[in-house]
Order: sequence, then C-alpha cells, then structure tokens
Amino acid sequence: MLRYPANEDVTLESYFGVFRYSRRAIQLVWSTHRGLTIALALFTVTAGVLPAAVAYVGKLIVDGVVSEIVTVQDGGSAEYSLVFAWVIVEGLLVAGLAGVQRAIGFCQALLRVLLSQRVNILILEKALTLDLAQFEDSEFYDKLNRARQEASSRPLSLVNRTFGLAQHGISLASFGGLLLQFSPWAVLILIAAGIPAFAAETAFSGERFRVFRRRSPERRMLLYLEMVLAREDHAKEVKLFSLGRELMSRYRNIFGVLYEEDRKLAIRRDGWGFALSLFGNVAFYSTYAWIAVSTIQGSISLGEMTMYLLVFKQGQSSVSSMLTSIGGMYEDNLYLSNLYEYLEEETPQGHGISTTGPDPSAGLTFDNVSFTYPGGSHSAVRNVSFSIRPGQSVAIVGLNGSGKTTLIKLMAGLYPPDSGSIYYQGMELSQWNLAELRKSIGVIFQDFNRYQLPVGENIGVGDVGHLWEDERWIDAATKGKAAKFIDKLPEGYQTPLGRWFNKGQELSGGEWQRVALSRAFMRTGADILVLDEPTASMDSQTESEIFDDFQSLTADKIAILISHRFSTVRRAELIMVMDQGEIIERGSHGELLAMGGQYARLFELQARGYR
Ligand code: ADP
Repeated sequence: MLRYPANEDVTLESYFGVFRYSRRAIQLVWSTHRGLTIALALFTVTAGVLPAAVAYVGKLIVDGVVSEIVTVQDGGSAEYSLVFAWVIVEGLLVAGLAGVQRAIGFCQALLRVLLSQRVNILILEKALTLDLAQFEDSEFYDKLNRARQEASSRPLSLVNRTFGLAQHGISLASFGGLLLQFSPWAVLILIAAGIPAFAAETAFSGERFRVFRRRSPERRMLLYLEMVLAREDHAKEVKLFSLGRELMSRYRNIFGVLYEEDRKLAIRRDGWGFALSLFGNVAFYSTYAWIAVSTIQGSISLGEMTMYLLVFKQGQSSVSSMLTSIGGMYEDNLYLSNLYEYLEEETPQGHGISTTGPDPSAGLTFDNVSFTYPGGSHSAVRNVSFSIRPGQSVAIVGLNGSGKTTLIKLMAGLYPPDSGSIYYQGMELSQWNLAELRKSIGVIFQDFNRYQLPVGENIGVGDVGHLWEDERWIDAATKGKAAKFIDKLPEGYQTPLGRWFNKGQELSGGEWQRVALSRAFMRTGADILVLDEPTASMDSQTESEIFDDFQSLTADKIAILISHRFSTVRRAELIMVMDQGEIIERGSHGELLAMGGQYARLFELQARGYR
C-alpha cells in the first residue's frame, strides 16, 4: 500500500487554503461571460440585503399594529392604511427576494454550460501543446485526468459557493446593522457565536483538502481497477484468467483504507462541529432572553423585539449556510488546484521555425544520439549514429526492447535526445518547425490508434489535409490491402469502426493493421515513411505484397521498416541490428550473413523454423 508523508504544518495560509482558488474561479467566470457575472454579483448582493429589509418592515408592521391597538384602547378609531401599506411592501420585498433567487439560478445555469465548455477547451488546447513525455509521466497524467473529471461542474460550484458566502456575509452584516440599534454587544455575540464553528469548519476543510491531494495515487489505482473490471476490451482477459476476484479484493482493500481515513476525519470534524455549535446555541438563547427582558422592561418596542428575534435567528442560519459553503469549498478548491496545476504545466520549450533544411538530399542523420526515458533506469537508445539518404530503404531488426521504436520516436521529434544530434535535410531537428517536420514524416506505430470513426476517415487521418477525399481513401486502402474487406462492410467506407457508436463494426487485429497501413499510403507527401511492425498479424504472403507496394511508393523517399520477418527485412538495402539500445551490426542482408553475427544467428533460427 502506498503511504505518503503528511506534510501538514498548519500555517495561517494553509488554514485559509479553502479560499485559495476563489479569486481565480471568479476570474475564470468573469472572463467567460462578463454580463452574466455582473448580473450574478448584483443579484447576490440584493439577495443578501433583502432579508434584513424584510425584517425591518416586519418591525414597522408590528409597531404600527401596536400603536393602532393603543389608539383603539384609548377610544380613538383605528387607522389601517399605514399597516396595510407596510404589509404590501413586505409582500413585495418577499416576492422580490424570490425573483432575485430565481435570477441567480438562471445566471448560474447559463454560466454552468458556458464555463464547462470553456474549461474543457482550455484543457484540450493545453493537451495539444504538450510533449509525449509529459503524457507518459504518471504524475502529470494524474493532473490531466483530475482536471478533466468534473470540469463541467466544479468551477461554477466554487463560484456559487463563494457568492453564496458573500450573500450570507452581506445578510449577516445587514442584520448586524439592525442589531446595532439594540446593542453593539448583541452584534458582537452574533458574530462571536459563529466564530468557533466557522474556525473548525475552515480548519477541517483545509485538512480534508490536503488529505485528498495526498491520496492521489490510491485513487488513481481505484479508477484503474474500475476500468479493468468494467471495460469491454479488458473483459476477455479478466474472465479467462479469473482475475475478477483478485482485482475486486484489491479494490475493496484500497477503498477500505481510504474510507477509514475519511471516517476518522469525519468523526473529528462533526464532533468538534457539534460541540462548538452548542456554544453558539447558548449565546443565541442568552441573547434571546436578553431581548425578551428588554421588551418587558419597555426599553424596546414589541416591533423591535420581533425584528431582533427574527434577525438573530436568520443571522444564525446565515452563519450555518456560510459553514456549509465552506465545507463544500474544499472539494472545489481541490478540483481547481488540479486544473490550474495542469494548465500551468510548463509547455515544452518552443521548437525552431525552419520549414526546410539547407540540403534536401542529405536525408536523415543520427550523430551519437542517446536517450533515456524520463524515470527510466537504463538508456533506451545509446550512442547511435547513422545516415540514410532519400531513396534508401532501411530495415531495423532486434529483439523486443532493443530500442527500435524509441529510435523512431526520436526521429519524429516526439522526444528530444538527451545527447547527440539528429539532422534532417542537414538541419538539426530542434531548429525545425515541428508541424512542418511532422508533415515530412509518416509513421505507423505498432500501437496505432483505432479511431472510433468511419473506416474511410480512419484511413484519411493519415493525411489530415485530405481527410475527406474518398478517392484517396480507396487508393490507399487498395495499397494497404484493406480495400477488399472494406467493400464487404455494410456501409463501405462510411462504416463506423469500434463499439462506441451505433452500428460500429469491430475488426480483427489483422484488418485493423491493414487500415493502419492504408494510413501510411495516404501520406504521399511525406519524405520519410516508417512502418513499425504494422504487419505482425498478417500472413507472410500479404506482408510481402504490401512491401512491394511500399517500396514502389517510396522509391525517392526514405523508407524505414521494423519487422521480425526476415523474408521482408532482407530486401532492404541497409539493415541495422539493434541490441540494448545500440546498433551492433549494419549492412545488407548478404553482408550481415557473411559477418556471422547476431543477424546471421537470428536469421538461421527463423529459417530453421520454416524448414
Ligand atoms: P523495441 O521497439 O525494440 O521493442 P522500445 O524502443 O519500445 O523497444 O523500448 C526500448 C526500451 O525503452 C525498453 O527497455 C523499454 O522498457 C523502454 N521504454 C519503451 N517505451 C517506454 C516509455 N514510454 N517509457 C519508459 N520506458 C520505455
């Protein structure tokens, strides 16, 4: 079980941590829609002041009634109009309050939709600027996922709570204003009675906030287990290996640990909350008694008594609403802190701006390149040097994990090398405009994406500039040996693939590979084409045919192929053999056989299998 040190020095700053992101949340809302934000603020202030006004009018009504009773008792005749007028005013104020509350709800509903869209776009746009290495960094991935979850509700929720806090704060202040006439001490009691519970709520919310953050890895594991247990693409293996029970028990254990921590915190929080609220109650009822005594003694009128009692009662309920708001704010803060951490993640330093190199015929050069994955224990690529000129076909062979794919990723600028340099057309990759560089390179990785899109578009993504050109799809699919089975699909090239959407068709592994290969054939504008074992699930006959096409397509280009099939590899002009990140042998098929090294040995091994 992962355990993390609790770094919980309670400083004043960490104490008020629940308010940390309120300002930013309001900024976010402000920049999303100014009109609605201003309206929301105005309505909030109005909703804050109105209850005190209602209480004040209530006092005027009671005082009016009492004075009329006195008039009648003194033998005069009653005058109703003033009392009626105040009743109407109070009725209007109450109706106004209801209207304002509705208006607040209306603004919030609109803002919620706008804000969730805006936050999602911020998140996705940021994702586009990130490095592959960042996606593979588990901590970063955590941030991204946490930011995406609840993107639609949290920012507004924090804003609502902040505004709610302000609204009740304003109510409290206006109640205080009214109470001041009775006694400044009463105001003090009203505020002081709320302070202990307020302090406890803030402190515990802050603690929950910190505990929650610290437990990220455990929650990530829970999410992951949920995914493995519930997703169709995992179901097959989970069933076959009977992993269900084992995974469920892990799921339960992790949950148990988290729950225990939550339970303890909740007990402490609610225990203290209750004890401290008792203190508030005592203060409240003492003041209540005081107000009653003052009325009997005649120092305040009956109307004033009604008002003060109402104000005091409502003041208390404002305090408890404020506590509830604060209690919920910790979660919102947690969310926003994730969001901002993610949005403020450093974007990789800008690439260069060159769109062509000084010498297009120079092809591709690796000069003593080494690379270790972030957090990796050993170099995935070590001191690699080679040159490939346009028109040359190259194959890379080697055992699993020898660094072949990494080499390709470096070539495509997906990671910068740790040392050494990579040149394309005589210009170092870092000087290249990344978009322009990637236009020149087409790579089909072995773990290519299976888009849940129509099969035609699945091919079209190979060249976004021509994504919807169905003639190009058909041409590419023919070369990628996918055309035959696509023609048999119910809606041809428009058949959606995958199971996410209605009428989606699932393809076999080999068929998916053909679709991916067709993607490579879409990329006619690229100068470097790389196939990273995309034919592994195909029979050798088909693979061989595909490579004939591939070679004719790439006659004046750089074609790089990674394969374990020597029948295909042997046709390449240059074969590089990789082992533990290094290139240990290079040459043509004949030369390598003559050398009698690893290549010869592997070739012999495979050939024996076929005999
Ligand atoms: P190959 O393509 O020859 O099978 P790779 O280039 O995929 O080999 O992997 C080379 C080494 O780099 C392996 O030791 C592997 O564990 C490591 N590696 C590959 N991908 C990653 C990654 N995304 N993060 C960390 N290490 C990786």
